[in-house]
Amino acid sequence: MTTSVRGRGRNSRSAGLGRGVHMKVVVDLTRCQGYAQCAFAAPDVFVMQGDEALLYDTDPDDAQREKIVRAAAACPVQAIFLDRDDTRDDTRIRKPAPETHVAAPGPGEAFKRTGHIVIVGASLAGLRAARTLRQEGFTGSLTVIGDEPHAPYDRPPLSKQVLMGQVPARRTGLPRRDELDAHWRFGVAATGLDLSGKQVLLADGAKVGFDRLLIATGVRARPWPNEAEAALDGLFALHTPEDAEGLRQRLAARPGRVLVIGAGFTGCEVASACRELDLQVTVLDRGPAPLAGALGAVIGGVAAQMQRDNGVDLRCGVRVESLEGDDSGRLRRARLSDGSTLDVEVALAALGSIRNVEWLEGSGLAAGAWGVACDTGCRAVDVNGLVTDDVFVAGDVARCPHPVYDYQYLALEHWGNAVAQAGIAAHNMISAQSERWPHLALPEFWSTQFGTEIKSVGVPTHADHVVIAQGSVAERRFVAVYGYRGRITAAVAFNQAKWLEFYAGLIDRAAPFPPSFRTVDQSTDGHPVAAEVPERPTPQATVVVTGHGPSERRATLVRRTYL
Ligand SMILES: Cc1cc2nc3c(=O)[nH]c(=O)nc-3n(C[C@H](O)[C@H](O)[C@H](O)COP(=O)(O)OP(=O)(O)OC[C@H]3O[C@@H](n4cnc5c(N)ncnc54)[C@H](O)[C@@H]3O)c2cc1C
Repeated sequence: MTTSVRGRGRNSRSAGLGRGVHMKVVVDLTRCQGYAQCAFAAPDVFVMQGDEALLYDTDPDDAQREKIVRAAAACPVQAIFLDRDDTRDDTRIRKPAPETHVAAPGPGEAFKRTGHIVIVGASLAGLRAARTLRQEGFTGSLTVIGDEPHAPYDRPPLSKQVLMGQVPARRTGLPRRDELDAHWRFGVAATGLDLSGKQVLLADGAKVGFDRLLIATGVRARPWPNEAEAALDGLFALHTPEDAEGLRQRLAARPGRVLVIGAGFTGCEVASACRELDLQVTVLDRGPAPLAGALGAVIGGVAAQMQRDNGVDLRCGVRVESLEGDDSGRLRRARLSDGSTLDVEVALAALGSIRNVEWLEGSGLAAGAWGVACDTGCRAVDVNGLVTDDVFVAGDVARCPHPVYDYQYLALEHWGNAVAQAGIAAHNMISAQSERWPHLALPEFWSTQFGTEIKSVGVPTHADHVVIAQGSVAERRFVAVYGYRGRITAAVAFNQAKWLEFYAGLIDRAAPFPPSFRTVDQSTDGHPVAAEVPERPTPQATVVVTGHGPSERRATLVRRTYL
């Protein structure tokens, strides 16, 4: 299946991976440190790309089972999870502390036995929350509502293995859904929330009552802004298996040139997949460098060089003015803001995302373009800023304050955050107030591009300076450390993931920046420089407050938030 080297994928797929009984595999790549033990144990399933990036078959043939089980056992950081392997705990959440005394069952215990929990959003966060609820002893009724027709699946392979033709788009299902005792309702959207009546309204007219609700509706791809151009055949977004399959087919037809509009993580990964397939690709971004929005322009500059070294035609500071098609509606050309034109048959609009909050309009929750606000216990905040007791939020749709980052509300679109936050939300949904946990995990993410594993811990945009602390930029094997007002706030590793745990400890302890410790691979690359992170956008005026005196003053959300 998976392979790093151009052209090897199809061969290794045919080398013994038939499609009989399906075994699902998911690797927590936030946790993976590139030890490659799995690639030794099951080389047809796990393949290293470059030094540290791991690609794997999400749905290998059952004939590989024994090797895969051995690979999972050999993983030094225990990051591999399989269907029907119940011997391990794959959440990072802490286990409940051992009981020191036996309390009489209170109202919380009764809820755990007979309560009714509804989860809206049947993807990574929704599934993880459902599992945690059952693992922690919730035996009441559990309903999971998802608007997609599919059972929960993993999105990261869509921009990597799937585009390279190594894993079919519909074979990235997340393990273990079948084992969960829950009422799954796929293919039906929640359209409204009646907070006081404790009901979720569905598109098919049904109303589903709940005692406690988890909102895990994530994000969707931001569409191309011009509707007529958006309809051109050949223009894609990338968020679902359908998107990935459509784009994969067009790439497999070997277009003359692919245009990627937007050099965020998705755009960069698609450019990387194109080069793996030996396709010509142009990447456009209106910013100064790829990934500059997430990592700042200094490390973005390193990503830019990496793209150019791998044959990408990268153009920064340039926008697409318009897309043009032929008489049959097929994409043919892009007109750019620098006056040039590009002949293209296939383009990806990688313009970021929109949070799925429209269904909450009028519900009284603080839900808008920024996401659904919650406290660190994952309890949703209402429009007046009061926390609710029975509505929780997790995953990409959530916006949660983080004490390490000046209590700023962070909206994160990272796999690891969805898993960790869903675990905390689920635990808190069935726990008494005194036993609830705060979601204080440091943000972490990974991205696999051009054979390089880019990983981050902390918030790189919460920085005024950055320094290459270890390794060598020229070799693309380094750790960049970010600081804000003299303390370390983030670290980004290119093929140096093993160090990130160390830096996470420094961030937790608010260690001084620039770092002063010595390492064997101390960088000679320099001194701290301005991080060149994007300015935070000024929030739009979307709330009006009316009334005098504490009993009267109330906030109202203004509708124009949904842009
Ligand atoms: C192509 C791609 C590649 C990625 N690669 C990486 C990576 O390399 N590393 C990384 O850290 N992260 C990556 N991510 C991000 C990661 O996949 C997300 O952080 C994760 O999927 C978030 O899970 P979630 O459950 O919160 O949201 P989602 O996965 O967005 O799921 C939300 C679900 O709710 C459903 N929904 C929405 N509205 C409603 C409604 N009204 N009623 C019912 N259901 C509704 C949606 O259809 C969806 O099924 C990638 C994402 C994409 C799209």
